[in-house]
Amino acid sequence: MARRRMIYEGKAKILYEGPEPDTLIQYFKDDATAFNAQKKGVIEGKGVLNNRLSEFFMTGLNQMGVPTHFIKRINMREQLVRMVEIIPLEVVVRNVAAGSMAKRLGIEEGTPLPRPIIEFYLKDDKLGDPLVTEEHIIAFNWASQQDIDDMIALALRVNDYLSGVMYGVGIKLVDFKIEIGRIFEGDFQRLVIADEISPDSCRLWDIETGQKLDKDVFRRDLGNLADAYTEVARRLGVLPRSNGTVKGPKLVQ
Ligand code: 5GP
Repeated sequence: MARRRMIYEGKAKILYEGPEPDTLIQYFKDDATAFNAQKKGVIEGKGVLNNRLSEFFMTGLNQMGVPTHFIKRINMREQLVRMVEIIPLEVVVRNVAAGSMAKRLGIEEGTPLPRPIIEFYLKDDKLGDPLVTEEHIIAFNWASQQDIDDMIALALRVNDYLSGVMYGVGIKLVDFKIEIGRIFEGDFQRLVIADEISPDSCRLWDIETGQKLDKDVFRRDLGNLADAYTEVARRLGVLPRSNGTVKGPKLVQ
């Protein structure tokens, strides 16, 4: 088989040229990084879990009419996605104070917020993804006012969907990060959810115990990350019932 052309390698994923024009193959690695790649590790099985979980969330969003880049999962670690022009911003939605916002504003982690708060961060590893305002976004032409309005509307719809799905399995959606891309159709552009939605990019706390079921387990050395992600996948019914155990062939009579 011909070697596929690699388009981009990120910290947790690789993008390859897809089989059709305007498609890409997104490969999920087991690599975990935190604090702008100052902390690194390999978590066996993380890529497989995130591929499945991202498929689950993106499919749900597509079915609800929230457009995403996701087309289909191809195998354990790969999915076919539409090629988009990524807007160079990370869109964070917060329901509960945690992480960088809790630290920046001196708010105790776990404080519920009166309404979802949306923040934009510039995607720039060298600068450590700084927080930016709408003024910066427009002045530096990273996106238009219309794009910002559309991104906020999309982010809130993702928040409603994800919060509901998580609540149904006893998990609080504390916050999450999404990336958004442009798709061009003739003279028109559409914004769609891109990248991935997985416990790598969300904060997920068990509603009863407060146990962390997301990448903070790795960031803060709280235990086994793959176990936490497996728990999320199990509750959502995303894992095969056998829990991954390979059984021998069975004679069908
Ligand atoms: P914070 O700003 O508190 O560090 O992160 C807010 C939320 O966005 C968390 O759920 C975190 O996992 C997610 N997030 C922020 N930046 C990144 C990033 O660069 N990569 C990933 N995977 N998630 C991020």
